[in-house]
Amino acid sequence: MAPPSPDIGRRLLAMLHHRAGRLRPGDSVAEPLIPTSIYHLPDDPAPDRVYGRVANPTVQAAEDRLALLEDARTVLFSSGMAAYSAVVLSTVKAGDRVLVLSDGYYAVRQMLAEIFSAFGVDMVTCPTAEIGDRPLDGIGLAILESPTNPNLDVIDLAAFAGRAKSAGCPFAVDNTVCTALGQQPLDLGAELVISSDTKAAAGHSDLLLGHVSSRDNGLMDRIHRARTLAGAIPGAFDAWLLVRGLETLDMRLERMCANAGRVAGLLRAHPSVRSVRYPGLADDPAFAQANRQMARPGFLIGATFADQATAARFIDASGVFIPATSFGGVHSSADRRARWGDDVPDGFLRLSIGCEPGAQLVDCVEKGLAAIAP
Ligand SMILES: *Cc1c(COP(=O)(O)O)cnc(C)c1O
Repeated sequence: MAPPSPDIGRRLLAMLHHRAGRLRPGDSVAEPLIPTSIYHLPDDPAPDRVYGRVANPTVQAAEDRLALLEDARTVLFSSGMAAYSAVVLSTVKAGDRVLVLSDGYYAVRQMLAEIFSAFGVDMVTCPTAEIGDRPLDGIGLAILESPTNPNLDVIDLAAFAGRAKSAGCPFAVDNTVCTALGQQPLDLGAELVISSDTKAAAGHSDLLLGHVSSRDNGLMDRIHRARTLAGAIPGAFDAWLLVRGLETLDMRLERMCANAGRVAGLLRAHPSVRSVRYPGLADDPAFAQANRQMARPGFLIGATFADQATAARFIDASGVFIPATSFGGVHSSADRRARWGDDVPDGFLRLSIGCEPGAQLVDCVEKGLAAIAP
């Protein structure tokens, strides 16, 4: 994988020293937590801090840090799906068609089909494998994900951005899996980034948050307005936890990706594992494109075992994978995606590799593999 660009290092440094750079003697070095619903308003309303549904200083502190990482204006939401709905509300009107991946994050299709269809917004789906050739005329908004979840296919985002631009189709990328430290969709030509910070960004499996970033100021005004009027601002405490999480994101990703590379190699080499998808494996179909656009290969692995029982035996015997949905936390976890209706084999596990010490994690995985050996 290409090393993170020097520009990412610069953004990371600016994020870490964001508060330190503006301290006065006696200020707390740590970001203060400021929960409030109202503000001192003796006179005409100030532009933003008028009421807690519009803005909060701790939420703004998290947004400032994300904005430094994304190099773009950022609005924080109470979940990844709240971020998605604000994007649809701010970009689409009745009669428009929204293009999403048929094998992308499932709640996005449910949201469009169950909620926005009643407002005259049509969902159009396309499998990741065909997205490179999908005609874009008549599409009012395209939202892609790369790598896809759970299959870990990688889309050429710059090529798609070029086609979207020619077709006049706004293009958003769900960057949840990579985070701003692993991939920069705005630099590749996307207009919007959507991210669930519930996952690696916050990283400790204890909150839900999401954000939207864009370099289009007018669009970000509408996104912020949608958050205010729909009431999707997060609480101050969750935003404060995200500030903490962002400060260690780079180190966590480094450990998680290094661990994932070792685990993927072990799984690939074992005869009882039918197939392995990991963009960092040199023979993975996504490897070449991942190398071109991702700074890191990621911490998610798709592994197909013979059947549901074999997958369960692997999880039990390894003693390290917590059976859970979601991903990106410090603990390694495993999710058998067929139980959610994903179009994958019964024995398919999405493994989220955590921050465990590498040698011990490898021991655990070897134990799990020994339990399913032929
Ligand atoms: C989890 C997830 C979401 C939704 O985020 P929430 O914070 O759960 O609302 C969207 N996209 C992807 C890729 C996700 O993994």
